[in-house]
This record gives sequence, C-alpha cells and structure tokens, in this order.
Amino acid sequence: MPVLSEQSPITFRDKLPDAVDVAIIGGGIAGICTALFLARDGVSVLVCEKGRVAGEQSSRNWGWVRQMGRDEAELPIMMDAINLWESLAEETDNQVGFQRGGAMYLADNEAEQAEFEQWLSIGKQYGLDTRAVSRQEVQKLLAGAADKWCGGIYTASDGRAEPFQAVPAIARVAQAAGCHITEQCAVRSIDVEAGRTCGVITELGRVRAAAVVCAAGAWSTTFLRNLGISLPQLVVRNTVARTGSAPEVFPGCAGSHQFAFRRRQDGGYTLALSDHLEHFPGADSFRYLFRFRPAFNQIRHALRLRPGQDLLARLLPQRRWQADESTPFERTRVLNPAPSPWAVNELRRRMNEHLPALAGVAIEESWAGMIEATPDFVPVLDQLPDYPGFYLATGFSGHGFGIGPGAARVMARLVQGKPPGYDLTRFRFSRFSDGSPVIPGPAV
Ligand SMILES: Cc1cc2nc3c(=O)[nH]c(=O)nc-3n(C[C@H](O)[C@H](O)[C@H](O)COP(=O)(O)OP(=O)(O)OC[C@H]3O[C@@H](n4cnc5c(N)ncnc54)[C@H](O)[C@@H]3O)c2cc1C
Repeated sequence: MPVLSEQSPITFRDKLPDAVDVAIIGGGIAGICTALFLARDGVSVLVCEKGRVAGEQSSRNWGWVRQMGRDEAELPIMMDAINLWESLAEETDNQVGFQRGGAMYLADNEAEQAEFEQWLSIGKQYGLDTRAVSRQEVQKLLAGAADKWCGGIYTASDGRAEPFQAVPAIARVAQAAGCHITEQCAVRSIDVEAGRTCGVITELGRVRAAAVVCAAGAWSTTFLRNLGISLPQLVVRNTVARTGSAPEVFPGCAGSHQFAFRRRQDGGYTLALSDHLEHFPGADSFRYLFRFRPAFNQIRHALRLRPGQDLLARLLPQRRWQADESTPFERTRVLNPAPSPWAVNELRRRMNEHLPALAGVAIEESWAGMIEATPDFVPVLDQLPDYPGFYLATGFSGHGFGIGPGAARVMARLVQGKPPGYDLTRFRFSRFSDGSPVIPGPAV
C-alpha cells in the first residue's frame, strides 16, 4: 500500500448527517478506534478527516506495538491495548497485520544496558514478561546480526502491526458498526451554545453533536489556538524506509539508540534511525521553549534543528479564522513531508553494518512522518474544563500507534460518562497550566 497523499483516492465518503451523539475530529488511530468503541456501545458517531484516514502519523509510523519502556501511567492501558490489537486482528482477518513477535532494546555499552534495566522494575510491578538479555542471548535471538550489542532488554509478548493497513481496516469495521466516516472534510471549529459544546462546523456544513472529541494529531494545537486554548505541542520529522523481502533476523521489533528495525507481514523490514529527529523551528518552538526544555535535554542526542526553508511561514502561521473561512486544515490535506535523503543512505549503511544477513537487500520505499509531542511525552486524555462536552485525545508523542486502541476505549468511556478504568491523572489537560513540574516520560 503506497504512502498516502492528497492525490490518494478518497475511500470513506459517508454523507454528513445533520446530527450525531459524538463528532470526532481526525481519522487517525485515536479517532477511528474511539468511533468504533462508541458505535459498539450504541452511540451514533461521525469522524471528519481533513485528508485521508490514517494519512498522517497513523500510517507513517514504525509499527511497534510495545508495552516495554512505557511511562508507568500508560502501561496498564497499553497492556489492555495489546489484547485489543489481538481482537482487531481476529475481526479483520488480520488485515491490521498484528503479530506478537517480541520487542528488544539493544545496548551499545554497559551504561545503556544499565539505563534500559532501570525500567525492569516497572514492568515487573505490572507482571509484564520484560527481562534483561546478555550479549550471547542477543546473538541467539537476532539471527544474522553483527556481534555489536552487549545486551538489552526483551519482551516476548510485545507485538507489531502494519501501519499502512491497520487503521483503514479498523475504519471499515467501524463503518460496518454504523459510524459515519468522511474524508476530505476539515473541521474548522466547534459549535458552542450556552457554554456547552453542541457540534462541529466543517467545510461541508454544520453537524450537531452532544460531544466532540479532538483527535487531530499534529494539528491539535492549531485547532485549539483558534478557540483561545493553549496546548503545548511540537513536531519532529522522522524518516522511515522499507526493504524488499529478506531473511528473518527477528520476528518482532528491535532497536538501539541509533537504529531500529521491524519485521513486516510482507517479509521485508521497516527501518528507521532512532537518533535522527528533525525539528523545523517555528513560532511554537519559541512559545513553548521553556516547557520543552526537559524534553529537549532528554532527546538532545537525536534532535537536529533545521531552520532552513519556509521559516517565515512557520514563524507567522495563520492563527485565527472564522468558521466561514478556509483554514490551514484545508490547505494541507495530508502532512506528507519528504524523507531526508541523508537518512535513507544512512539507514542503508547501518542495515548493512548491523545486520550482515540483510546486506545488499534493496530499500524499496522511503517516507517521513511528523511526530507530535507534548513536553512530558504522554498524551492528553481529558475533557476540556471550560468547554463541557469537548474532549481531547492527542499528544501521543511517538508511541500512540500501539496504545491507540486502549486510549480510544478510555475516550469512549469518558465521553459516555463511564469510569475510564484507569488513573488518568497524568493525562489531564490542566497539567500544562496548574503549575505542575514537567516530568518527561520515556522519549518518543
Ligand atoms: C515516523 C513515526 C514513527 C512512529 N513509530 C511508532 C511506533 O513504532 N509505535 C507507536 O506506538 N507509535 C509510533 N509513532 C507514533 C504514532 O504514529 C502516533 O502517536 C499515532 O499514530 C497518533 O495517532 P492520532 O490518531 O493521534 O494522530 P494522527 O494519526 O496524526 O491522526 C490525526 C488525524 O487528524 C486529521 N486532522 C487534523 N486536523 C483536522 C481537522 N481540523 N479536521 C479534520 N481532520 C483533521 C489529520 O489529517 C490526521 O489524519 C510514530 C510516529 C511517526 C510519525
């Protein structure tokens, strides 16, 4: 399945209903899975997607579905999410491409091994099967890898899925369950009456809704700013590539601080550099600089600043609009950044060096995605206090694909006023304004 762009055919084109119980902004994994769980509870739902379902992060990611290395507050949600992936695989005849192939973090030196092992006590507390592995065991688990890593940590129960296929497949299940899904339909703003959210204003017209969920990924800050709400969020570009069919080195996902690879359902690998996150500074970089300082420190080995072209446009973005005006969402239907040629060459070089069994295997395609992040690398799963009926499911910070179904089930419960089933304190929106210290979780 090719990388999605605004030239890709429109496949979800349901007619806009006049009214639904819940309207969802964004057809990524968060929006589509929330729609599915709501529909299963008998709630009527509309998903508006400005471009293509899963056109942005949800199709461009590495495809790791991992519990290992998560922020402690995310872990119980993620442990349930991986079971939801299993059910989704059954329901879609595994069009989501899910498999429990394991995940492994690989240490280049003893200091990294010690750093990885710090997480083991968290996994143990929740009964997860993560364990430390020695150099010899890494060699045994990775058939045909260079003898480069001194050890690592390994979780056999972790999984992988196919990002280009998964969310469209789930969207078809959601549609069959009664959800309306409309692509090429940007939401310009929300409708508010007597202080309560009462619908969405889209480029195709208004739709009444008792609740609205903003699952707009990298666009959430822009969407909220127009309403006078500040959500600290920044984006980084990461380049990804896939190889043609190749011998099996490892059935799951593995990576060091430099290089990450995942076995694919089609017999190839998805490759990425873990130390190459490119940030294109804009107005928000300055606005949120102080909040992101701890996060920047944590990923400074990987962060590359790219002031470069289009700086003026990034410094002076359209900040406000009326609901009858065209918006930034209509101007960029699919955020489709070009991959970095340097990164693609470097991926080829590192693959040959680290995985001699794959030396010479062709890279067949490359693409890039804009990863959105919050200052503490955990999402917001909350109702906005000043806008009753308006909910946020965003800020997944480079690891929202795996947890997506779990976070979506939380949102479906919140919207219906049901207990979410988890402690959501860490994911509250007010943490950005109530004076709480910024404590980053594990990085993107
Ligand atoms: C290169 C890369 C590698 C990654 N690797 C992994 C990984 O291995 N494992 C993992 O768990 N996570 C990974 N992630 C992160 C993961 O992909 C994201 O966290 C997750 O997909 C976020 O899902 P989402 O639904 O919140 O956002 P998105 O998938 O970005 O979807 C948001 C959607 O909202 C739409 N939208 C925005 N504004 C509007 C509007 N006003 N009206 C209508 N529609 C709108 C957008 O067009 C978009 O389609 C990676 C991300 C990238 C980019």
